[in-house]
This record gives sequence, structure tokens and C-alpha cells, in this order.
Amino acid sequence: MSQFDFDLFVIGAGSGGVRASRIAAGYGAKVGICEESRVGGTCVIRGCVPKKLMTYAAHYSEDFEDARAYGWSVGETSFDWQKFIQAKDREIDRLNGIYLGLLSNAGVELIEGRGVFLDRHTVKVGARTITAKTILIAVGGRPFIPDFPGSELAISSDEAFHLDSLPKRITIVGGGFIATEFAGIFHGLGSQVTQIYRGDVLLRGFDDDVRAAVTAGLIEHGIDVRLECGVREIKATTDGSYSLQLNSGKILLADQVMYATGRYPHTPGLGLAAAGVNTDNTGVIPVDEFSATNIANIYAVGDVTNRINLTPVALHEGHAFADTVFGKQPRSCDHRFVPSAVFSNPAVGTVGYTETEARELFPQVLIYKSSFKHLKHTLTYSKQKMLMKLVVEAKTDRVVGVHVVGQDAGEIVQGFAIAVKSGLTKAQFDATIGIHPTAAEELVALRVPVGE
Ligand code: NDP
Repeated sequence: MSQFDFDLFVIGAGSGGVRASRIAAGYGAKVGICEESRVGGTCVIRGCVPKKLMTYAAHYSEDFEDARAYGWSVGETSFDWQKFIQAKDREIDRLNGIYLGLLSNAGVELIEGRGVFLDRHTVKVGARTITAKTILIAVGGRPFIPDFPGSELAISSDEAFHLDSLPKRITIVGGGFIATEFAGIFHGLGSQVTQIYRGDVLLRGFDDDVRAAVTAGLIEHGIDVRLECGVREIKATTDGSYSLQLNSGKILLADQVMYATGRYPHTPGLGLAAAGVNTDNTGVIPVDEFSATNIANIYAVGDVTNRINLTPVALHEGHAFADTVFGKQPRSCDHRFVPSAVFSNPAVGTVGYTETEARELFPQVLIYKSSFKHLKHTLTYSKQKMLMKLVVEAKTDRVVGVHVVGQDAGEIVQGFAIAVKSGLTKAQFDATIGIHPTAAEELVALRVPVGE
């Protein structure tokens, strides 16, 4: 009989925590998990899933326009925010139920409440004190809003999913994943959108051509993108809207102000000091390749470790942890060549090195790229162009980067990510016959490197 209540106790029932707990339970471990909010975590409850549903909702306005260009008579259209939010919430409830079912079917005990460490083997959840041989921290992150006069008036993406009504005018601050995606969402749904970014091109960290194409695309769509711009102060006005004073001194009015200025690990108040778990000065828990913290029986996965903050990565990390610690199959999550997408409009799909990164890493790099009008838009009024770019290491001929901007970019790059991850060469891309007519066929038809 073990001296502990559980073999494994997991703090946080999001993507990484749920996956780790049920895989460990499958290996015969006695597992408990606690969650202070709803089971499913950021991705399911207030992230990827509801956000993607919102991008679908938003896209209809453009689809109606495109349909007219194809000869359809589209009657008067209108968007019912409440109806959409209710439908979206029903789907989130359904997914939350599936996650609850996954835990109970695996025999994992769910304890509702926030877990706080008392020592390296003990966690308090509400009135209950729980001991466990191994503890996994999977608490994720929270939106970060900088502190300045009136910053408490701004919402984050958490609240954006539950607004009472669609704002007529919304100002979104930030130039990363969330700000750029929500700018497209609110614009598509009919809001007048201003996006404020402190840098000179959106999506820092992405390939420069991708960044330029997305920034231009948003402006083309009619989003008021203000670059090298900041907010000094937000004030509530008497009519229920907000007045933003920009760094330039100019005043901007909005009905909602949303900040998407990054996320921080949800470690404050977790009692990490009582367990002796180290964090860096931003609250991130450093871990080794097996997700082990500095304390032998405590592990951490997902956004709280700030490796690559994406759901599929947290799932892999959680699964690898369970295989290693409970399945006697030590393995680590491979963080190389992780593809990602930004569901902005235009959308981005990317895997591997940017051109700049590749030029730093390899002595010689070949770049292949093409910018063209999607066949669908030859009949519509859209001026949007697709961008396809390959980054090739010259010496080995390996394709080390694939970058796509435009319709279905994420769907396209998911398949090409296998090729890049597998180390396929440009010659093997060239030997692959395209599917005609698709946009993606361009990626196997790029023959002449840029500049040659
Ligand atoms: P990001 O790190 O992507 O972007 C943060 C943005 O806020 C950057 O443009 C940054 O500017 C800006 N910023 C940071 N601090 C300040 C400040 N004090 N004042 C003004 N601007 C500031 O974070 P997000 O919040 O957009 O998303 C968080 C994470 O969630 C992402 O990194 C990603 O891992 C994940 N995510 C993934 C999605 C997907 O896969 N599709 C979708 C949504 C989120 P600068 O560039 O100058 O630093």
C-alpha cells in the first residue's frame, strides 16, 4: 500500500494535464487531477476552439461578397451575435463533457478547485489535502495586460468570447497571434477595427515576407492598422465607450478595447516555493527534455514551461511525460519543426526556419517564392494574393522552411510539415506531382530560386 493518496496528481486539466493523466492511468497509475475552472483548459474553453469557430463566423461576410461575383443573388444579410455565442457555447459545453468523460473513463479522479503546493508531495485543493508520489504542473497561462492608466478598462481574449454584444468599434492592441486573429474576426463580423502595434510590421518572429503579406492583407481588408503606435491612457466616456490617448497624443474612440499583448505562466499563488520548484523571473518553470523540474518528483508541461505554447505541443509533452514516468518508455517531445498557423485573414501556415534564421544557421540558402491570385479570386473583387515560400539549405538540398499566406494556409502546411520534419529535399518536392488546380501545387512547382 502506497504511502501517498495518488501515484500521480496533476494540477490543471487542460490539454497537457488531461492527456498526461489519462495515459498514466492507462499504465495502471492511480491518478488525480484538479482544475479551478472548466476541464478542457485554454484551448477548448477560451482559446483555439472557440476562436476558430469565430473565424468561421467572420468569414461569411467575405463569402457572401464572393458568392455575388459568382452569380449568386445574396439577399440582405445580418449577423446575430447572441445566436452565434449560444451556438458556440453549446459546442464548448459538448467538448467540456467529452473531456470530463475522458477523465472518468480513464479512472482519473477529478477534484474541483485550485491546487496549491504545501510541500513537494502535498497539494491542497479547497479543504482537501492530497499527497502524491509524482506531481505534474500543467496550469497553463493567463493573458497579460500591461499596467498603465485605465488598463483595467481593457478586456483580454478571455472576455472577447462572452461579450454581450458585437462592438461597433473595437481597438485591439498587440501584433501577435491573438491580436491579428481577432482583428480579422471582429472585422469580418462587422465591427470597425483598429489594431495598434508597437512594432513596424505585425507578427514578429515569423518570416519577413509572411509578416509583410499579413500586414498588407489586413490593411487591404479595411482594418485600421496603426504601426509604431502605443496607448498612453484609456478613459471611460459618459456614453459608455472609451477614449484612448495614443502616444502621439491623438485620441481614438472605441466601444471595446482588447489587449492581446502576450500571456504569462499561471504560477503566482501556486505555492512553488513550498515545494522548492524553481521559476525564472517571469514565473516560467524551467524543465529538462523529459519535462522534469529541479525537484525530482515534480514535472511540468505546456504553456507554464514556455517552450512552444501550442496545444499540440502540450499534448505531446504530457504524453511523453506519462510514457517516461509511468510507461517505462523514456521519450521526450521533439520541439524541432513544429508547424503552426495564424487564423488571421489572410491566414498563415508555417513550418521550419524563416529566411533570416536559415541564413544565420547555414552558409548558403536558396529561397523559392511565389505570390499569385488564388483561382477562386479571379472572379471576385478580392485583391488578396497568396504567398508561397520555400527555404532550402543549399548544401544538403533539404527544405528547412515552408511558409504560406492565404486561404487554407494552415491546412496546406500541415501536410508539408511531414515533409520538412522528415528532412525531404527540394529535389523530392520537385519530383512530387501537383494536384491541379489547387493553390498548394505551387509548393511543388517552384523551380527558380529568387535572384537567379
Ligand atoms: P504574442 O507573444 O504572439 O504577441 C504579443 C504581442 O503583444 C506582440 O505583438 C508584442 O509586441 C505585443 N506586446 C507585448 N507586450 C506589450 C506591451 N507591454 N505593450 C504593447 N504591446 C506589447 O502573444 P499573444 O497574446 O498574441 O498569444 C499568446 C500565445 O498564444 C502565442 O505566443 C501562441 O503561442 C499562442 N497562440 C497560438 C495561436 C495559434 O496557434 N493560432 C493563436 C493564439 C495564441 P512585440 O512583437 O514587439 O514583442
